Amino acid sequence: MAKDYYNVLGVDRKASKDDIKKAFRKLAHKYHPDKGGTDESKFKEITEAYSVLSDDKKRREYDTYGQAFPGGHPGAGGQGGNPFGGFDFSQFQQGFGQGGVEFDFGDIFGDMFGGTRGQARAPRGRDISIDLEIPFKDAAFGTTRTVLITKVSTCALCQGTGAKPGTELESCTTCNGSGRVHETRNSILGQFTSVRTCVACEGTGKIPKEKCPECKGHGVHRKQEEIKINIPAGIDNGEMIRMPGQGEAIKAGTAGDLYVKVHVKPHATFRRDGANLVMNLPVKLTDALLGTTVSIESLEGKTLEVKIPVMKRAEELLRVAGKGIPMEGSRGDLIIRLEVALPHKLSGKAKKSVEELKTEGL
Ligand SMILES: [Zn+2]
Ligand SMILES: [Zn+2]
Repeated sequence: MAKDYYNVLGVDRKASKDDIKKAFRKLAHKYHPDKGGTDESKFKEITEAYSVLSDDKKRREYDTYGQAFPGGHPGAGGQGGNPFGGFDFSQFQQGFGQGGVEFDFGDIFGDMFGGTRGQARAPRGRDISIDLEIPFKDAAFGTTRTVLITKVSTCALCQGTGAKPGTELESCTTCNGSGRVHETRNSILGQFTSVRTCVACEGTGKIPKEKCPECKGHGVHRKQEEIKINIPAGIDNGEMIRMPGQGEAIKAGTAGDLYVKVHVKPHATFRRDGANLVMNLPVKLTDALLGTTVSIESLEGKTLEVKIPVMKRAEELLRVAGKGIPMEGSRGDLIIRLEVALPHKLSGKAKKSVEELKTEGL
């Protein structure tokens, strides 16, 4: 399912910002839905590609991770650790003409949007973002967290209708049940008609005969909610999990999304290098010269017997296969960085032995 954004725009991976903009402009003109019913999904695809590739930061992240996690991390359950898996076009559309998007639409669409700017868009609840700190081990193997979030949610008592349970809803007289009202304004440029969400029924077209006592007829209300977050194995520091529909609810429209930014606490022993775990292991001078076997504790807390070979250099890397970070159905390796630890102090006896070694040319 991974989309190659460069392919979508038909540009080279090294394409400049200007080239990307040019390619997008050309395709946008060709596929824009207002241009006579061409393929809307194609338009979404190119807009999505452009929104990522035109943003230096997103492009860099995409270049690094984009192809590595098609459709999110393994076990992510569709929620995706991939910050781009969750691109939501409806949010994007809301930004049109409101300055809410990072690049200049006016520049690109100025000639096409003439009459359409004033149209009401499907209302959508606010997105929420939270930060979550988890231990290194939990990030490696995956975990779940339950968090309490205070947000606007659908009223459980009336199921969002706003009506007292057992009572009926009537058609809204302000908008004649359409949920929208048309407003016509005259200006020096001519007459403008805009469509707004009806304030009386909040866009639903219906008014409760008796208001729900819990939400006072709004269908939604602010409350504290427990949300369970599945954190996929292998998630890295700074990665984002998107939970569609877990943002704020809205009476007539879809709920926003919840974004969870994951912060991974550093580990005392291990650090991460892609799918590999890296640790330092000091080796006594005599062990380095003679070789030995040591016991170390793996990230999951198991004892590993590791054979240290006779070292030829003061620093050597040792690889223990399959003891790294689980990712994409397999596991990375554990890389042990062996470092010869020189003695801080030599006893008289030890010094004599070393002097003997010296006579042997060591
Ligand atoms: Zn209610
Ligand atoms: Zn109404």
